[in-house]
This record gives sequence, C-alpha cells and structure tokens, in this order.
Amino acid sequence: MTIKAYGAQAAHLPLESLDIERRAPGPHDVRIDIAYCGVCHSDLHQVRAEWAGTRYPCVPGHEIVGRVSAVGAHVSGFKQGDLVGIGCIVDSCKQCADCEEGLENYCDNMIGTYNSPTADAPGHTLGGYAQQIVVHERYVLRIRHPEDQLAAVAPLLCAGITTYSPLRHWNAGPGHKIGVVGIGGLGHMGIKLAHAMGAHVVAFTTSESKREAALALGADDVVVSRNEAEMAAHTKSFDFILNTVAAPHDLDVFFALLKRDGTMALVGAPATPHPSPQVFNLITKRRSLAGSMIGGIPETQEMLDFCAERGIVADIEMIRAGEINEAYERMLKGDVKYRFVIDTATLA
Ligand code: NAP
Ligand code: ZN
Repeated sequence: MTIKAYGAQAAHLPLESLDIERRAPGPHDVRIDIAYCGVCHSDLHQVRAEWAGTRYPCVPGHEIVGRVSAVGAHVSGFKQGDLVGIGCIVDSCKQCADCEEGLENYCDNMIGTYNSPTADAPGHTLGGYAQQIVVHERYVLRIRHPEDQLAAVAPLLCAGITTYSPLRHWNAGPGHKIGVVGIGGLGHMGIKLAHAMGAHVVAFTTSESKREAALALGADDVVVSRNEAEMAAHTKSFDFILNTVAAPHDLDVFFALLKRDGTMALVGAPATPHPSPQVFNLITKRRSLAGSMIGGIPETQEMLDFCAERGIVADIEMIRAGEINEAYERMLKGDVKYRFVIDTATLA
C-alpha cells in the first residue's frame, strides 16, 4: 500500500513529503495507523548522515504510537483498535542468546525501525514519520495510558526505555544518588524515571535556563555543569551517572563526582568521539565507564506499564509534519521542552 511519509532524499536536503510503500500484513504482522511520532536526536544524526551508513530515502522516527488497523491470521496478542507503540526495533533473529533473554536490542541482527536492511521496498526500513507501519507482533508494545495522553506517551518508546534500562541495570532506587547529564528528550525522562524509582536525583545541564524546570521534573538538585564550584560540591558522591549528551565533551569532570566503584553510562551517541578520559580518574577509585543501548521488548513493556501506573509521560511540543526541519534546528539549540512530537494527521 502507498502511504504518505516525511523524509529526506540525501544528507544535505531538508525532509519533505514522500510517498512510500508498506507491505501487506503477513501472518504474524500487525498494521498500525500511526497517530503520533516523537522526534529523537538520533533521527537528526541519521538523516543528516552524521553516523555512518545512512540509506536514502531516509524516513526517520522510532517513537511511534497509534491504533491497530489490521492483524495477520496468526497474530494472537493484538486486535483491531488496540492502542499500541513501536520503538526502535522492528525485527531481530529471534533465536540468539540475546533474543532468548528478551534483549533483542543487543541481537547482532537487530533490525532498526529505520535504516536497516529489509526485504520490503526500497530495501531498508522506513520509520514512523509516516501514516502507517507494519511490524511483526513480537515488537509491538501495548499502551495502557489513557488515550488522551497518547501523544505524550510516544517519546517513552525511545527516550523512556533508553533511560529506564540503564537506571534499572545500575540499580537506581532508594539510598542511591543518581546524576542525569543533559536535560533534553532523554535526560528529562531520566529525571522523571530515576525520581519515580526512589533515587536521589541530580540534574546536570549546560543551560542556566533549565534550572527551575529540572526541579519541576523531579530533580532533587540541579548543577550547571560549567560552574566549577557547583560541580566540586558533589565530588565523590554519586553511585551512578547517566550521560545523555548528544555532543562530544569532557567526561573527566563527571568521573570526579563518582564514589568508589561508581559508574557513568553513556547513552548519548555523538557523531565524533569524546576527548579520551583521564585514566587516573578511573583507576584510583575503581570507577567504570559504560554504555547502554535502548532496551529489549519485555523491558520496554515493563517501562510502559511502570509509567502508566504512575501517570508518567513526556513533556512535549506538538508539531505539524511540515515543521520538522525547523524543529531539528531548534533541537540543536536545546530549544525544546523536552520532545517534539509529530501529529501524523498533518501528513495527509
Ligand atoms: P536532545 O533532546 O537534543 O538532548 C541532548 C541534550 O544534551 C541537550 O538538551 C543539552 O542539554 C545537552 N547538550 C547538547 N549539546 C551539548 C554540548 N555541546 N555540551 C554539553 N551538553 C550538550 O537529544 P536526545 O534525543 O535526548 O538524544 C541525546 C543523545 O542520545 C543523542 O546523541 C541520541 O542520538 C542518543 N540516543 C542514544 C540512544 C541509545 O540507545 N543509547 C537512544 C536514543 C538516543 P542541556 O541543555 O541540559 O545541557
Ligand atoms: Zn531515539
């Protein structure tokens, strides 16, 4: 079926309206009429070829929510009309150790929602800046939030799980002091989630203007990371720091804030490397530098249910599809509180 989408034909070209094809649902497939799609900084990195290997036309978008409009003959978990989400994963090998553990995000053959190889036209996956998507039921998430929150649920599908998973893995909870660096789409969810898990949360921002807002999101304290005295007040006090920054920066100033055996996990994925960390900052206190990528399907469902039970959603600014290029420029300036979401009704 031919549908409307928004994407780019080359790295240097703006996104524009495109006609794309979706396959007819196979026996295990679910077809979703997309209502909203969040705008992740990864979309910008990918569509502008800041990361290697972008295929064109590129239709970004992996924070997808909508309603099931058709299901294949063997689909048992979903029916027409269900409220569902699709995140960053639309397929994987389904048989490796990672897939068996529900960690499809670490499968060597994970198929991303956009820019991954597929048998469907045009030979690579096309994402959620589109009217519909067809996905194997294994990768479809159930949404239990009230329908009027649907647009604000969309960013949970990437920003939510990408922060939830490392916070869980490194035991964010009561008695733990957790830092969240970079208060953008990911970072603002990191604050909300770490706070909901019961941790003591400190937000690190380069933007003085986000100080009050970070407290309102649930931070117990806010540090403007360019202020050396404010940073020094937290020396050797953190159990865990989640770093969501989308640009290369000095990591050493954050290692100095970790306790003995503390860990800083990077989820931000800048196009060029960070300056190499100072080894002495790590060895003297047995500190760790780690990374984490989105989360598996079972944990994504767990995160959605955790948020539904607590009324947690993203803070969003809704845009029309035609405003996406301007939204990218504003995201680069940090001028969004805290996630743009495309109303896909404006694609028609
Ligand atoms: P975003 O909304 O643009 O937020 C990034 C934040 O980083 C900004 O709001 C800003 O926060 C801070 N920042 C930006 N440039 C900076 C600089 N030069 N120095 C210091 N701080 C800076 O982006 P996002 O959507 O949250 O994504 C963040 C990163 O995570 C991107 O690289 C994205 O590709 C990556 N990502 C990774 C995964 C994964 O699985 N690991 C998943 C999704 C996204 P302040 O104004 O508060 O300083
Ligand atoms: Zn993302």
